[in-house]
Amino acid sequence: MTLETTTRSTHDSIKHTEKQRVIFCDFDGTITANDNIVAIMKHFQPPGWKELVKQVVSRQISVRQGVGAMFRLLPSHMEKEITEFSIQNAVIREGFTEFINYCKLNNIILLITSGGIDFFLYPILEPFDIAHEQIFCNASSFKEDTIEILWPHACDANCDNDCGMCKTTIIRSYPASEYTRILIGDSVTDFAGAKLVDTIYARAQLIDLCKESQLEYIPFDNFHEIIGSLEVRLER
Ligand SMILES: [Mg+2]
Ligand SMILES: [Zn+2]
Repeated sequence: MTLETTTRSTHDSIKHTEKQRVIFCDFDGTITANDNIVAIMKHFQPPGWKELVKQVVSRQISVRQGVGAMFRLLPSHMEKEITEFSIQNAVIREGFTEFINYCKLNNIILLITSGGIDFFLYPILEPFDIAHEQIFCNASSFKEDTIEILWPHACDANCDNDCGMCKTTIIRSYPASEYTRILIGDSVTDFAGAKLVDTIYARAQLIDLCKESQLEYIPFDNFHEIIGSLEVRLER
């Protein structure tokens, strides 16, 4: 901000020159305490799932290939059982309700950008004031013998990661020239997006990755801390 705008500005004119803020918030391990796909696999133990996780971690196969193959190990008739398990198992990180309200009150676009699957994401988020249009995740079909994951938000031409649900594609659709971009995440699947945004809120593995790449980040354990930090930045 220049001296001129500082001296003559009212709060309104500061707001006027500010870019629209948009938050890209991860789901598994960020909104929920744990990863829901891993929890499903650990609980139902379909033979072969551990090998697939190893292959994803060692990058022999993409996240999309790995997640697709893992769910193909589960029969479609278990839909209800698996969905109910996911809803009961999910623990929401503290302050999430207040965080949604804070975004609304402060005209911040909140998007849930998740590599999770619709059949557990929508029911877990159902009690919260979030529109379906704010949620980006993978889809599913229970029409065949085994569960088929569908990919409505695949990578654009700028990403060759085969993400499945491509977070950077969504982030790129909110250009830096028009938006102040904020990412909240916990793992390697948030890292490519973290490199694009203005502000990173990180926990767990994403902290280590940011440190390694000397990316500036703000650590968090709950959403109250994120609200506090957003508030400070708004007033600066
Ligand atoms: Mg996550
Ligand atoms: Zn991608």
